[in-house]
Amino acid sequence: MVKRVQHAADTQTPPEAFLVQGVSISKPDRVLYPQSDLTDSDITKGAVAEYYSAISPRMLPYLQDRLLATFRCPDGIGVLCFFRKHATNAEEGTGILSVREASGATGTYVYVKDVTGLLSEVQMYTLEFHIWGSHINTLEQPDLLVFDFDPDPGMELVQVRQGVKDLKTCLDDLALRSYLKTTGGKGYHLVVPLRPQASWETLQSFAKKMAERMEARWPERYTNSSRKNARHGRIYIDWERNVRGATAVCPYSLRARERATVSLPIAWDELDFIAPDGITLQTALARLDDEDPWRNFFVISQELPKS
Ligand code: ATP
Ligand code: MN
Repeated sequence: MVKRVQHAADTQTPPEAFLVQGVSISKPDRVLYPQSDLTDSDITKGAVAEYYSAISPRMLPYLQDRLLATFRCPDGIGVLCFFRKHATNAEEGTGILSVREASGATGTYVYVKDVTGLLSEVQMYTLEFHIWGSHINTLEQPDLLVFDFDPDPGMELVQVRQGVKDLKTCLDDLALRSYLKTTGGKGYHLVVPLRPQASWETLQSFAKKMAERMEARWPERYTNSSRKNARHGRIYIDWERNVRGATAVCPYSLRARERATVSLPIAWDELDFIAPDGITLQTALARLDDEDPWRNFFVISQELPKS
């Protein structure tokens, strides 16, 4: 639903408003992703708004009613971008919630309620959406377990892909369904949907157990120690990520990186064929008519195994 609204004859101010999903997007022609050697053309704020509008039916189930950190680039990628973690006021279609932080202090966070909130964030120059692993109604019971696979410098992609496959094997052994997405950056995220039941502590200790199991099974491939000099070419399974308050980039979020890459849900049999930065704004949109590779994500209902 994109509509240009002509303003009165006054050509000085404001030039032209741009309505997307009923949200007025100012400066729609501002370039947020400048053309480069790797891209055909500029990507404007208006095009970013149209992307999020088009992708919203697929994205909202993951974004809605979760506390957020947003990454904003008012002058385009690479120029004065910033993470916005704490919020003071709610834009239309968003809400704010004060929660206790690990430090003991109270932090106020924003969450998106609906497509209006999604576009309100775009209006405020949000390019990246990063979500908590729990829903605001069940804040202390996470429903997303995320494993982040990043290559160390010099590591081949084939090794990262093997790591993702090996972890899937370990999860399959426990009858836990897992889902794969590109990050739009250097690695992949493997996501396990859960019934909101267990605590954050239980989630993290399960993630640690999986890292230990990987190391025990393939000691030449994996380590659960984060110390860089203990790795010796092995992959560090970053179990520490799943703490209360940590975020992961939301499925379907753009990245504020060259070529407007996307963190896109993909099918398991695409792992060997799609690079972590292999999906862009354009290719994500082109895949919208295809079947949703995560279609059962919210249907399956599973919990962490006891012990
Ligand atoms: P890549 O594949 O390039 O690693 P990524 O999204 O996994 O992409 P990481 O640097 O591994 O990037 O970070 C993992 C997650 O941690 C991010 O998705 C993000 O949600 C969160 N994160 C990273 N840096 C920050 C930050 N400065 N502020 C808030 N959250 C952050
Ligand atoms: Mn990562």
